[in-house]
Amino acid sequence: MTTDATAERPRADAGPASQAESGADAAPLDVLVVGAGISGIGAAWHLHAQRPGTRFLVLESKDTFGGTWVTHRYPGIRSDSDLYTFGYRFKPWMGKPIATAEEILSYLGEVIEEGGLAPRIRYRHAIERASWSEARRLWTVAVHRLDTGERFELSARFLWMCQGYYRHEGAYVPSWPGMADFRGRIVHPQHWPDDLDLAGKRVVVIGSGATAATLVPAIAGRCAHVTMLQRSPTWFITGRNANALADTLRELDLPPEWIHEIVRRKILFDQKQLQRRSKEDPHGLARELLANVRAQAGPDVDVDRHFTPRYRPWQQRIAFVPDGDLFAAVRAGTASVVTDGIERFVAGGIELTSGEVLEADVIVTATGFELSVMGDIPFDVDGRPVDFSRTVGWRGLMFTGVPNMAWVFGYFRAAWTLRVDIVADFVCRLLAHMEASGATRVEPRLREAERDMPLRPWVDEENFNPGYLQRGMDRLPRQGDRMPWLHTQDFHLDREDLPAADLDDGSLAFD
Ligand SMILES: Cc1cc2nc3c(=O)[nH]c(=O)nc-3n(C[C@H](O)[C@H](O)[C@H](O)COP(=O)(O)OP(=O)(O)OC[C@H]3O[C@@H](n4cnc5c(N)ncnc54)[C@H](O)[C@@H]3O)c2cc1C
Repeated sequence: MTTDATAERPRADAGPASQAESGADAAPLDVLVVGAGISGIGAAWHLHAQRPGTRFLVLESKDTFGGTWVTHRYPGIRSDSDLYTFGYRFKPWMGKPIATAEEILSYLGEVIEEGGLAPRIRYRHAIERASWSEARRLWTVAVHRLDTGERFELSARFLWMCQGYYRHEGAYVPSWPGMADFRGRIVHPQHWPDDLDLAGKRVVVIGSGATAATLVPAIAGRCAHVTMLQRSPTWFITGRNANALADTLRELDLPPEWIHEIVRRKILFDQKQLQRRSKEDPHGLARELLANVRAQAGPDVDVDRHFTPRYRPWQQRIAFVPDGDLFAAVRAGTASVVTDGIERFVAGGIELTSGEVLEADVIVTATGFELSVMGDIPFDVDGRPVDFSRTVGWRGLMFTGVPNMAWVFGYFRAAWTLRVDIVADFVCRLLAHMEASGATRVEPRLREAERDMPLRPWVDEENFNPGYLQRGMDRLPRQGDRMPWLHTQDFHLDREDLPAADLDDGSLAFD
């Protein structure tokens, strides 16, 4: 596998949509994929492999592919999932389980190349509106070409939304009193400045999630000192950035496809056990995770205060700390952890609730994302605006009142991409079914007995509760209390359920 992603990456020159190809007069596409992140590239691969002959394009507003892995450029940026499951089912992962952004981009570049997908992708094409016409049975999207400024429309029979779940342009930064008084620099990991020199600087990273846990060891030793300032702790699991089973299988000289599949199965099996234990034996699991942290962080760290979360393990993804690097930095004294509230920013740093002042030259706000529902694209059906918060999700991927559209909303605790593959299988099956039956329209519809079904938030807050979802839950679709209206966020359930979903049970209206 190549590790130099930039050398591999096709860019916008793969060919912008020509006016003739994209104008209103052109024949409609079969499928329009929105976004060329890991979801959109996966969608394109499956369309190409499972439905050859489909006329489709992928429209992407950035000038290259990769989405999340292009936007985030902070030091140390890496996955916190293993790439055997964050990688696709169809493309073996050959590197270390936890990968850098560059390695992920290189992998995606290979998928584009091997699938011959480059001519299907249009970069710097931002979609600004999506309108469904009942008369024409088509989606028409308003496209803004960011390189030329040109605006035009493009029509497609089916819209495959792969635009992710957060705003790439604006990160979430809470507003603290006194921010304007701070004399140093405030940066967000989502917009890491190229000119930021941390040498000799005292850095405070606000946050305790995977981003903070990645950033802190990456800059420890390169700045005067880095402090991770958290309101409350996160669950961490540590281990070598290696997969012993994969290494053994490689020694046996097995084909990469076998190794990928076997290791995926083992990781998924282990995750299932972890998930089960987090419900059946949360205290035992918590004790094990904490013992691991204690062993890594050394005797001087107050593990109860700084590393013992208030929520159950697995209620959010348990962040993997490869080779215990975060704890090694804390042990070495180049990094420290403070668990406290923020009272206000002051000229020289941050005044904490305890009254202490944390001195800083640079403050990094690793405080999360702004949720974006359908890329903030305004949708309408025959001119009537779609309010997604008033729709009900069909297995979390199609929505009542919205015809011919699917959204890839991946897993948060397991790897996101696991859902990319199984949603793609489903969409390809759905398209084949429509073709075979001559249907030109499909829309999820509540059946008689389901009309009064209690509706619940998109994600069960008791079960999974990161801040960006809590802040944006009222903008997300609803789920029901039974299949097919559940959004389970559970790969193990979905992988049985989705392939077996009965397309003719009346919950999908075809005509
Ligand atoms: C730093 C970081 C680390 C992460 N690590 C992991 C991990 O280890 N494991 C895991 O499972 N998940 C992880 N995630 C979650 C991660 O975002 C997803 O796993 C995955 O990368 C999302 O892929 P995506 O293609 O669905 O969306 P994105 O990566 O968000 O890509 C969406 C693309 O759509 C484009 N787009 C959006 N709107 C429009 C529009 N209107 N017109 C045209 N194009 C548009 C965007 O420009 C973008 O390129 C991480 C997230 C972050 C921020």
